[in-house]
Amino acid sequence: MSKLEIHQIPVLNDNYLYLFKEPESGLVGIVDPAVAGPVLDKLDELGWTLTHIINTHHHMDHTGGNLELKEKTGCIVVGAKGDADRIPGIDIQLEDGDIFEFGSQKARVFEVPGHTRGHIAYWFEQSDALFCGDTLFALGCGRLFEGTPAEMWHSLNKFRKLPDSTKVYCAHEYTEANARFAVTVDPANKALRARYAEIRELRKKLIPTVPSTLGEEKSTNPFMRADDPGLQAALGLTGADPITVFAETRARKDSF
Ligand code: ZN
Ligand code: FE
Repeated sequence: MSKLEIHQIPVLNDNYLYLFKEPESGLVGIVDPAVAGPVLDKLDELGWTLTHIINTHHHMDHTGGNLELKEKTGCIVVGAKGDADRIPGIDIQLEDGDIFEFGSQKARVFEVPGHTRGHIAYWFEQSDALFCGDTLFALGCGRLFEGTPAEMWHSLNKFRKLPDSTKVYCAHEYTEANARFAVTVDPANKALRARYAEIRELRKKLIPTVPSTLGEEKSTNPFMRADDPGLQAALGLTGADPITVFAETRARKDSF
C-alpha cells in the first residue's frame, strides 16, 4: 500500500490544484481543475496520464477545466451526486459516507454543505490527506453562499473528528488575510499568534502556507473553535450555543 504522491499547482490569483498519483495502480487524479492548461503542462513534465478529475463543488474556479481535460485525456469525472447537474462532465456520483476507491487508496466522502449545498470532501486516510475544497481553509472557512451557519458548523465538525496529523489540502491561499482576522476574534490564543508570525514570514517569500494540518486548524482556526471558552469570551458570547458563536464569527469576517 503506497501513499499518494501529491503535487500542488498554483493557478489564477490564489487557487491551488492538487495533482496526485497512486503509485501501484498508476491512477492519476486532479482535484478541482479551475483551468486545463497548467494541469496538462504538469502532466507532461511528470510523464503522468490523467485518469480522474475529483471535484469538491461546482464553482467555476474548481470545474472550469473539466470538459477540456476530459476531452483531451479521456479521464473520468467524479463529484457530488447532490450537485450532479452542476458538475460539468460528471461520470461517478458520490454521497456522504461513500468510499471512493483509487487503486490501493480509499477516500471517505463527506457531504459538507455551507459554501455550496452540494459540496463534498475526500479524506484519503492512508495518505493523511483531506481534499476539502472551499469548506475549510487555513485559518478560515468558505463563505456561506448556499448554506446556513448551522450547516457549515456541522460540516466543519465532521473534520474535527479526523486525526490531527491530517493534511488540509484546501483550494485557496487565503491564509494571511484569514490570520489578520483570526487574531481579532481570538486575541488570547498564543498558538494563533505564533502561527500568524510564521505565515507572514512565509508569505513575504511567497511560499505556500497550504497544506496545513487539522491539528493546527483545531487549535488556531476560529471557525473550528466556536465552542472554545477563550474565543467565546473575546466575542462577548460566553456560554452561547456554538452555532451562534460560529455565525457571529462568520458575519464579522464577511465585513472585515
Ligand atoms: Zn467555491
Ligand atoms: Fe474557490
